[in-house]
Amino acid sequence: MKDSLQQLIAGPCSAETREQVLTTAKELAEIKELTYFRAGIWKPRTAPGSFEGIGVEGLAWLKEAQETYGLKTITEVATPEHVESCLNAGVDALWIGARTTVNPFYVQQIADSLKGVDIPIFVKNPISPDVGLWMGAIERFKLAGSSQVSVIHRGFFSYSKGLFRNPPMWEIPIKLKTEFPDLQIICDPSHISGDANMIEEVSKFALQLGMNGLMIESHPSPKVAWSDAKQQVTPDRLKEIVTAILTNKANQAIKQDELISLRKDIDLADRKALLEISNRMQIVRDIAQYKKENSATVFQIERWKHVLEESKKQASELGLTEEFVEDLMNLIHKESLHIHHLIYNS
Ligand code: PEP
Ligand code: MN
Repeated sequence: MKDSLQQLIAGPCSAETREQVLTTAKELAEIKELTYFRAGIWKPRTAPGSFEGIGVEGLAWLKEAQETYGLKTITEVATPEHVESCLNAGVDALWIGARTTVNPFYVQQIADSLKGVDIPIFVKNPISPDVGLWMGAIERFKLAGSSQVSVIHRGFFSYSKGLFRNPPMWEIPIKLKTEFPDLQIICDPSHISGDANMIEEVSKFALQLGMNGLMIESHPSPKVAWSDAKQQVTPDRLKEIVTAILTNKANQAIKQDELISLRKDIDLADRKALLEISNRMQIVRDIAQYKKENSATVFQIERWKHVLEESKKQASELGLTEEFVEDLMNLIHKESLHIHHLIYNS
């Protein structure tokens, strides 16, 4: 199962100094799974005044890393000028940042500037959880002639500050994979978690979901990094993580039988859950018919509030989150209202 980590992109969030780039490159070159050495040259920062990238000067350091350690290099581009500088400097691949993917005008300009140059492109998801916008960006590069378009899943912006810096919303990359099975999806646990201590577990989970590779930020002294200090791991720690991931995969291969049996249990549980929902909807039909015959009010807000509150109270007892129970009940309620509507108008 070793080939499950088909791509490993690693390197610092930002290129800071020649020494920092070359030290990191030297260490990372020892990881044989490494496919690209990354370093941000132009940094899209939320607030002005933070380090906005070293600029073109850093491209020469990437070239040196490429030539000295035989690494392929990748960096972020946000404008046609960035693309031109990268192509002149011999950068091997480009990624489009989350703040650029949101804007179809920028994406189109970048795609146009690449016409006739078939270099690998990695499109990060837009910061908003909009799978259509993500697919649109992929399409723009393909239409402009790029035959090597992959994507990077780096999580989505959220107002509520929870466990993740950018909650992964795994259902979104899974939807993308379902629609485009051949599309390579690389997970970026660094920007998803925002926390160096979470990189290993998020990486393992992503690969278990069938993602094809990882992009991990690595810095020789994360604490003093000029950007994203909390989420970068040292090259030594990255080596440990890669070993842990590969061993983890091997263990799973042995447990295939167990997995097949658990999947059967899941299928059965799904069937039971659907059957119960179907029974519930039959009761809704009976109530709707009764209400129609007796000219009773279809919707009573107090009754619905009561149902919702009672269900949420049971959540933790059932090992479920309140949020999930609320979403599920709202979905069930929506279908119940639809049934009422059909019967009322029949
Ligand atoms: C990065 O990879 O350093 C970066 C800025 O990423 P994102 O566009 O995902 O925020
Ligand atoms: Mn970063």
